[in-house]
Amino acid sequence: MNTNDLWQAVLGELELTLSKANFTTWFKYTFISEVDTNAVIVGVPNMFTKAWLEKKYAREILRSLQEHSHGAVKQLSYRVENRPSAPRDIPLFEKEAVPAPQNAAPTQFTSSPLPQQKEIRTGEFSLNGKYCFETFIVGKQNELAHAAAQAVSAQPGGVYNPLFIYGGVGLGKTHLLQAIGNDLIHKHPQIKILYVTSERFTNDFISALRSNRMSEFKNRYRTVDILLVDDIQFLGGKKETQEEFFHTFNQLHQNNHQIVISSDRPPKAISDLEERLTSRFECGMLADVGSPDFETRVAILETKCREKMYHIERDILHHVATVVQTNVRELEGALNKIIAFHQFKNAKPSIETVKPILTSFQPASSRKNVTPRQLIQTVALYFDIHMDDLLGQSRQKRLAFPRQIVMYLMREEMKSSYPSIGSELGGRDHTTAMHAYDKITNCLLEDEKLQHDLELIKQKLYAL
Ligand code: ADP
Ligand code: MG
Repeated sequence: MNTNDLWQAVLGELELTLSKANFTTWFKYTFISEVDTNAVIVGVPNMFTKAWLEKKYAREILRSLQEHSHGAVKQLSYRVENRPSAPRDIPLFEKEAVPAPQNAAPTQFTSSPLPQQKEIRTGEFSLNGKYCFETFIVGKQNELAHAAAQAVSAQPGGVYNPLFIYGGVGLGKTHLLQAIGNDLIHKHPQIKILYVTSERFTNDFISALRSNRMSEFKNRYRTVDILLVDDIQFLGGKKETQEEFFHTFNQLHQNNHQIVISSDRPPKAISDLEERLTSRFECGMLADVGSPDFETRVAILETKCREKMYHIERDILHHVATVVQTNVRELEGALNKIIAFHQFKNAKPSIETVKPILTSFQPASSRKNVTPRQLIQTVALYFDIHMDDLLGQSRQKRLAFPRQIVMYLMREEMKSSYPSIGSELGGRDHTTAMHAYDKITNCLLEDEKLQHDLELIKQKLYAL
């Protein structure tokens, strides 16, 4: 979890307890500015807000911060500061610093006694109220998945059991899974719903095994009315977890309890997945989600603008939809950047001001060519180090990491061969380049700060 997610979770909670006017007045321009071991500094726009928050909301905010950080945050203070144009992605704490809750069941049941209360926690295992059917835009590429999700929601445990939704990243799979959960909770407040990623399932299973708590684990997973499992492809290769999941699946299925699964590929294409699971997954309803076409992309942008109550002219939205074609997450990311930038500058978006923001979203083929030299320069500048040092022999971490980033980007962005990457970087061996590429690829999976760094570097690079 990064600071941005944490703060959004806190705000989400506060929003429920305050009037809209109050909430907007005091929290609109706040953000987490700094994290130092266990102290969080919240940036606020002026002294007045600072005093008010200290006086009125200190306890509540700290409690919520503690809860959402699993107790890692212990202190809270405020500082007058302007919010940065792009949201900050400071990793919250070193991973070790957050003690994994040992006994407490980490997985959350979402069985709400108060139907009108929205779940806004952003943790990976609870439902996020913003993912609902109302905010899901339907186009040709996802209409089947959407219709199936609605059917499941209307009659869980019926004919579409399991429902298996698959497709590339950022195309709305998680959104649909959660929409089913949110809709059902709304209609049946007592219903027992469990949303987990397959990684969560795996981790729960392993820790249950280790701590001799298998019966608790089984009880948790096999007694729900609805089980939503996100990103099932990660079960590939995990034999014992697959076995456990198989039994969980059967038990629920036999009792006509609904199972909904998402994956980045169809069941058969998941490597190292047992045949008996593949065939179970295929026995209900398979629905894919694809990339949105131009009209849908425009519709999505228009809807998101309305939701955010921010007006952008239609020709600009068309431009965004033309440039950003891959997936909805990127589309949303581009829109957020545009809004943040213009709010910060207090300016109205125009084609001229929007273009530079979109450079990093352009498909690689239409990007202008950059030379290795420009890339090295850009990275050196970004990390504030000397080019000679970057190309030199020192293995200091402050140099070695940026160097690996250069190698990664040369491979990823410029499709250079490993030997030529090595030689561009002061005559290094090609295995060094391979190692760097693998390392950064792995880091990127988890490290949001790094994702953000690369994003900014690419922006600078292509804006040269
Ligand atoms: P996936 O799980 O397939 O990787 P997500 O469900 O996380 O993708 O979607 C990424 C982002 O795009 C989310 O913020 C989601 O709300 C949004 N999104 C995806 N598809 C749609 C859609 N059809 N309508 C509205 N928002 C969408
Ligand atoms: Mg997802």
